[in-house]
Amino acid sequence: MVEKFDLGIIGGGPAGYTAALHAKNSGLSVVLFEKDKVGGVCLNRGCIPTKTILHSAELYEELKCAEELGIHIENFSVDFKQVVKRKDTVVEKLRKGLELALKNAGVMVVNTEASPVSEHQIKADNKIYECHKILMATGSKPRELENLKFDHKFILNSDDILDLTELPESILIVGSGAIGTEWARIFSAFGVSVTVVEAAEHLLPLADVEISKRLERIFKTKKIKFYTSTTVEKIDGQNIQLSNGELITPEKVLVAAGRDINSKEQIHGITYIGDACGEIQLAHFAIKQAIAEVQGIKFEKTLVPSVVYGCPEIAWIGKREQDLEKDSYEKAIMLISALGKSHCDNCSEGIIKILVQNDQIIGAHIISKEASSLIQQILIAMQNNISIEKLKEICYAHPTYSEGIFECLFKF
Ligand SMILES: Cc1cc2nc3c(=O)[nH]c(=O)nc-3n(C[C@H](O)[C@H](O)[C@H](O)COP(=O)(O)OP(=O)(O)OC[C@H]3O[C@@H](n4cnc5c(N)ncnc54)[C@H](O)[C@@H]3O)c2cc1C
Repeated sequence: MVEKFDLGIIGGGPAGYTAALHAKNSGLSVVLFEKDKVGGVCLNRGCIPTKTILHSAELYEELKCAEELGIHIENFSVDFKQVVKRKDTVVEKLRKGLELALKNAGVMVVNTEASPVSEHQIKADNKIYECHKILMATGSKPRELENLKFDHKFILNSDDILDLTELPESILIVGSGAIGTEWARIFSAFGVSVTVVEAAEHLLPLADVEISKRLERIFKTKKIKFYTSTTVEKIDGQNIQLSNGELITPEKVLVAAGRDINSKEQIHGITYIGDACGEIQLAHFAIKQAIAEVQGIKFEKTLVPSVVYGCPEIAWIGKREQDLEKDSYEKAIMLISALGKSHCDNCSEGIIKILVQNDQIIGAHIISKEASSLIQQILIAMQNNISIEKLKEICYAHPTYSEGIFECLFKF
């Protein structure tokens, strides 16, 4: 017997589960196919596990300054097995919550691999499901480089790295996008000797170049070695020859050089959302796309914030300075060290940079504690075309990092 649904979704990551929950909320019948675990990469192998480990790393790093802050702690050390165990507990707890939410909403979850056979039919376990509409939310997987094939022991991808139960003495990280940068910060905080290799001219190549340069300074202070405009040329056992002539012998290699989408061949009439659509590979983009698809709530694709976690956070939105013609814009920069709160928190590294054209913000680039929240304030102003003059009327609480935005406004 053929089962019939209003909506069939393949993939239970942020794109798929968001679409399923919102569709049920709108009264549709929904079947969701997931071949692995609901939550997808984000919950099981991406955003959540990395940020959980990062939290331990940040705490460990803060404890190193405890004496200065008047806290006396004797003999503290890292128990990495416990760090990983806590990560697993957090992931499992959130996954159980999601499974329950899907169940309570009445989404039919089928735990198997599925594929669309036509615009309205999905095949799974030799069974055909008729669906009025099909969403493909099959996500992405780590990209393998020609000369750096994953052996999952020495050459690792972002999934393998989560399975380590012991810290390596040294690691080479290939690629300094968000994933590479976050892991560089995690390992360095835990005392691992980290080297980063980046093919582009600067670290974090998608960021505003001033932010990239500041990150390079932060890496130097933290003794994270990095080589830009450099690639891995040759591997011989554990000897790694870089294109700049350096020879290094790390204990592990993490390849963080982008992600490939899982569903390469697209079927006409089927909608691809999240990482699978091949546009922006971020969980919040996947979630917004799912809601747009199911509820018709539009969102501005040019206003999707980017955040790189770690201490301090990095966040940006809109145009970068290198994309703009000279003299076509105005800019204001505020040093985080000028904000009282940053000294209270012992975290005064960073800047807030705001770019403006015709009294409207067109881009903002932040390195600061709480940058992930600060960027959201600017995004609201940008999305609603709120002018600089109007923003000046807002009352900003003191002492906060938000005051940095306020101070920037008065430079225009
Ligand atoms: C280490 C790391 C850290 C990250 N950190 C962040 C972050 O901090 N913030 C952020 O916004 N983004 C982050 N991301 C990116 C984020 O995880 C992805 O953008 C997000 O998971 C995409 O969601 P999705 O639903 O499109 O796909 P996915 O999360 O990839 O989910 C796709 C699901 O589809 C399933 N599937 C695939 N094919 C089939 C099939 N044929 N049948 C059934 N099921 C199938 C898969 O098993 C998977 O569960 C990170 C990624 C990584 C790797």
